[in-house]
Amino acid sequence: MVTSQAAASPSATGRSASPTINTDVVVIGGGPAGSTISALLAGRGFHVTLLEKAHHPRFHIGESLLPANMALLERPVVADEVAALGMEKWGIEFVSPWHEQRTTLEFGQAWDKSMPMAYQVRRADFDHVLIRNAADKGAEVVEGCRVRAVALRDDGSGGLVTAERDDGATLRYDARIVVDASGRDTFLANQLGAKRKNKAHNSAAMYGHFENVERLPGKLEGNISIFWFAHGWFWFIPLSDGATSIGAVCWPHYLKSRARDRSLEDFFMDTIALCVPLAERLKHARLLNGVEATGNYSYTTTHAQGPSHLLLGDAFAFVDPVFSSGVYLAMNSAFVGADLVTARLNEPARVKAATRRFDRVMRKGPREFSWFIYRVTNPTMRDLFMAPKNVFRVREALLSLFAGDIFGKTPIWPSVFVFKSIYWINSAFNARRTLDALRRRRVNIRDVETPGGSHAPAPARVAA
Ligand SMILES: Cc1cc2nc3c(=O)[nH]c(=O)nc-3n(C[C@H](O)[C@H](O)[C@H](O)COP(=O)(O)OP(=O)(O)OC[C@H]3O[C@@H](n4cnc5c(N)ncnc54)[C@H](O)[C@@H]3O)c2cc1C
Repeated sequence: MVTSQAAASPSATGRSASPTINTDVVVIGGGPAGSTISALLAGRGFHVTLLEKAHHPRFHIGESLLPANMALLERPVVADEVAALGMEKWGIEFVSPWHEQRTTLEFGQAWDKSMPMAYQVRRADFDHVLIRNAADKGAEVVEGCRVRAVALRDDGSGGLVTAERDDGATLRYDARIVVDASGRDTFLANQLGAKRKNKAHNSAAMYGHFENVERLPGKLEGNISIFWFAHGWFWFIPLSDGATSIGAVCWPHYLKSRARDRSLEDFFMDTIALCVPLAERLKHARLLNGVEATGNYSYTTTHAQGPSHLLLGDAFAFVDPVFSSGVYLAMNSAFVGADLVTARLNEPARVKAATRRFDRVMRKGPREFSWFIYRVTNPTMRDLFMAPKNVFRVREALLSLFAGDIFGKTPIWPSVFVFKSIYWINSAFNARRTLDALRRRRVNIRDVETPGGSHAPAPARVAA
């Protein structure tokens, strides 16, 4: 095992440049993926350097966790701290303007009844807990330090990482392996030219936090609500400090239709007014802070790992936030990633199997959720969600999937297949509606210039 050790490296001019620090692992980014893998690897005795461009606590969107995420919090041992800052989330409410009734699904009714709840969290606090935990486990955490360049070695021996601190100082690391957990900045995927736009999906979001929102009563208070409307859907995420996060996920061309003289805040409020049941709950609400928008381009990357690097979480793929799967997939990728790094650095006999498992897990999460994400605004899917039946345990299987229970042994897949068959049969019986919906979707997901530019590598967050 290598420990940190500084060695002066000569610059091209012959003058001594800043020392290059040897380390086992450099992790780019201290979000859920980066902090989790750092904690796991440091806990196993590796020398881990985590470079984070921001200073925690810092704002991040993505506040609704999944029940399957709870077990992962036990292993970095932060479950109690997350419980203290989280709002209990026991289920999902679906509200559709095209249906009379509302539907509430409880995770306790999923196939596996042992994971009945999750939390809604302020990501600033949640991510702070995770990065502190990484430091507590022994990772060297450098905040306010942006990775600028990575030179990977093809022989699998790692690479050189150059980073810049807020004060302008340049830091250089020679790592045996580089882990990219830079989120939607997709640092390495951009550098390697490996990022691919998802041709099957495209959406954008605007969001803000409100106080005085009418919430569901009692135990349902912390449920996430999904409200469909003409241009997409809204999330409604109640937080434990009394604020409620509201976000509109809409087609990029809708976001683009904002008139020049309408501020983002006005446009957001106009959009909320289009969804009467949501507007009702916000009757007495007040917007806290500003409204933000993000061009939420769906993408994946050709490879999740190479001889000297790994990509985790959003640094590998992002699809859409509708099933709140992002944080869970990011943290789960850190667990399989930690296993692969351990094998590469210490257990060569296991590398092949660990690589296969890592690749499989990285593809599986986005793939299983994508089938539902692509169809969530389809009227047939909406009908099925609004009147969920449990034939062949279909409802239990769907709830398990929505809970994130997709990597274990819960035998949901035959029932998920039955659900998909029911969807296809219903679509065929409503052929005209199905074709109309397909045509509309093709137009809706077209590329337009949204905040940040449609091909911008980094997400754009535009203040009101
Ligand atoms: C509109 C919207 C709503 C969402 N809602 C949800 C939700 O309700 N639930 C959910 O689970 N997920 C949600 N997500 C997804 C969720 O935000 C992400 O999937 C999750 O944050 C991914 O974690 P990560 O660790 O991979 O990346 P991130 O959390 O993005 O962390 C990446 C970190 O890397 C740092 N970084 C980036 N570049 C560099 C660099 N060059 N050098 C150093 N540091 C760098 C960043 O500052 C950041 O701290 C949502 C996403 C969007 C866009």
